[in-house]
Amino acid sequence: MKSNVAIVTGGGSGIGLAIAAKMCSEGIITYIVGRTADKLRSAQEKLGSNARIKVFDLDRISEIPHLIDSISEEAGSVDILVNNAGINMKKPFSDVSDQDFASILHTNVQSIFAMSREVVRIMRKQGHGSIVNISSMAAQYGIPFVIAYTASKTAVEGMTRAMAVELAADGIRVNCVAPGFIRTPMSAKALDSDPDRKNKVLGRTPMKSLGDPDDVAEAVYFLATESSKFTTGVVLPVDGGNSIGF
Ligand code: NAD
Repeated sequence: MKSNVAIVTGGGSGIGLAIAAKMCSEGIITYIVGRTADKLRSAQEKLGSNARIKVFDLDRISEIPHLIDSISEEAGSVDILVNNAGINMKKPFSDVSDQDFASILHTNVQSIFAMSREVVRIMRKQGHGSIVNISSMAAQYGIPFVIAYTASKTAVEGMTRAMAVELAADGIRVNCVAPGFIRTPMSAKALDSDPDRKNKVLGRTPMKSLGDPDDVAEAVYFLATESSKFTTGVVLPVDGGNSIGF
């Protein structure tokens, strides 16, 4: 089954932009969902005629059904959903307020659930679909100062497995990519201000470098499309060996 239409959340920058670029270059009509119109417009210019944009804040969860209806009516189908948008917060454990914690979970877990539920509605009618979630090394081992982010990404990996099992009978596959440390604005914020942390990251990465957003995009494309048609429920690290480094 050829995939014709994809949705990539947070596709205006970083890893999401690289994923959207890969999808567009493979001839897939790709809807980039993000909050900032200017950023999305400049992404669309770079990506060319297969790129479409939807300015939308995924925190507005009750409006997600309308977003998905509008994309599906416009595009005629939704074959791929990449739940890439995410936020991080680096703070000592005891400084994290209930509100901080809830806001990370809201964006990184609740919105993924709502996006997936609404897209599954369409995919079930089609009888096929592929969902790829983006997790993190924070779900593989304990990283200090990112308690809410860790909780959220661990939830994403669990949801991937639960959805994969429940939705397999509908022809829907659900997989996850766990990027290691990738060069993006998000990682620059966390690592450039903290050289010890950066050295620790590189020290336990056998391939001795940060990854590129394109490395993640290739893995997402594989899991999103028919090359992986017998694969569901996996978490694929793209991390230069970081998760198994000693
Ligand atoms: P980024 O900050 O460059 O991109 C995240 C995107 O999500 C941005 O475009 C942002 O605007 C969007 N976004 C955030 N909240 C949103 C909301 N409420 N509504 C709509 N869009 C929203 O970061 P990135 O590094 O490209 O991260 C992409 C994904 O990869 C995230 O899920 C992140 O947790 C994950 N990740 C990144 C790294 C890394 O090293 N960069 C490592 C592991 C996992």
